[in-house]
Amino acid sequence: MDFLVMLGPPGAGKGTLCRLLIERVGALHVSTGDAIRKEMENPLSDFGQRARPYMDRGDYVPDGMALELFENLLREAAPDTRWIFDGFPRTVPQAEWFARWVTPERGRILGCVFLQLDVDTAVARMAHREICQVCGAVYHRVNRPPQCEGRCDECGGTLVRRDDDTPGKIASRMKRFQERTRPLVDWFAERDQLWSFDAALDPEMIAEELLPEIPTWQNPS
Ligand code: AMP
Repeated sequence: MDFLVMLGPPGAGKGTLCRLLIERVGALHVSTGDAIRKEMENPLSDFGQRARPYMDRGDYVPDGMALELFENLLREAAPDTRWIFDGFPRTVPQAEWFARWVTPERGRILGCVFLQLDVDTAVARMAHREICQVCGAVYHRVNRPPQCEGRCDECGGTLVRRDDDTPGKIASRMKRFQERTRPLVDWFAERDQLWSFDAALDPEMIAEELLPEIPTWQNPS
């Protein structure tokens, strides 16, 4: 298994870039945030109930729960899967655990893609963000509105706002990112596993620059 990790503040466009990369290389995309929200929608999920208090206050779930989720998501994966992880690892202890988990028999960590974005732009992006409930396409009410209000251009699905895209929660998510996730950028850089891009760039351009850096992903899987 190959693992590519996406890092960036909320609103940096990680989801959009992941969708592009998946089309090009046939990777599987895992958003741990989406996976947690899905668990929370299931009233029978013990994990979802345990995650709720943390999610409700815009906090990270404890590292132990993130590792539990990671192992569950990979339980039935084929050994040649190409993974793009969006949201894991999210703290240095998670990354250290992840680096120990990815033994040569299991696969390798290709590196981390960091989308840099200043805090004010990230907040402005999230405050106007709408996401397709069906396919996950991301819109911005001012900069990238859908052709028909409330409907996804790609699949016709209903566009919704995320519960945590409210001013109070956006502020606490940004603070949490700076304190707990930003140190991971240095963690990957020290291992020579970091590709950094300006998040204002067109995602197509980022993909064009990034993919030649990953020789084993030149062809779709
Ligand atoms: P996201 O959709 O990536 O913005 O994630 C939404 C929320 O899910 C985050 O604010 C965290 O509360 C939680 N979350 C997602 N991934 C992790 C993780 N690896 N560790 C801890 N909390 C996480």
